[in-house]
Amino acid sequence: MLVKVDLHNHSCLSPCGSDDLTPALLAVEAMEQGIEILALSDHNSGRNLPTFRQACELCSIMPLFGIEVTTVEEVHVLTLFEKLEDAMQFGSFIEYLLPPIKNDPRLFGNQLVVNLEGEIVETVEKLLISTSGISFSDVIEEALSRDALAIPAHIDRYANSALANLGFLPNLPYSALEAIRLPVEAETYNRTILTASDAHRLEEVGRRSCYLEMEELSFEALKAALARGLVTYRT
Ligand SMILES: [Zn+2]
Ligand SMILES: [Zn+2]
Repeated sequence: MLVKVDLHNHSCLSPCGSDDLTPALLAVEAMEQGIEILALSDHNSGRNLPTFRQACELCSIMPLFGIEVTTVEEVHVLTLFEKLEDAMQFGSFIEYLLPPIKNDPRLFGNQLVVNLEGEIVETVEKLLISTSGISFSDVIEEALSRDALAIPAHIDRYANSALANLGFLPNLPYSALEAIRLPVEAETYNRTILTASDAHRLEEVGRRSCYLEMEELSFEALKAALARGLVTYRT
């Protein structure tokens, strides 16, 4: 079956994410757009993932619990987990590694943890868009060792991407790659290339997505589809 997936999105926890992009509204908007597998991947933290799980349950969407890690080279990498607990543990690890710089909401925006109703339950003080201090290759290895998907984010973006910051894409065992525009003018080692919204505002949810040919709706089937390159981009 052909499954519509969108594996890169933010919430109001990311300082650059709009305050009204709550996990619940993200899930509802994705449901309305027919997205069946949806990831929330805030910068260097997983604190809105428990609410995201509740929202996806109500919307009958298969959730992927993500963290978009900033490496020491300032490259963004999507790490996407099947299990909430594993993502929370990895998120705490990454947050712990961030330098102790306080967020200035006037400069960077708010970092809000919210419940299903969108009420603020916590404001995160540590700036979440610093670099975690882990190298690009170590993030890939660490994520894969925890049975997460490891996907270099927006590899063709002008900043915070493998091609921009490293100058090339190292040949590592990525689960897939994410690009903004296709085709990518670089060596991508025949890896599956996904398109995803990277939404920071509600109106950006679903602006890019793709379809995977999957046997069933499961994490194992998703991994298999990515490994076999069964992706299409029709909208
Ligand atoms: Zn990014
Ligand atoms: Zn992002």
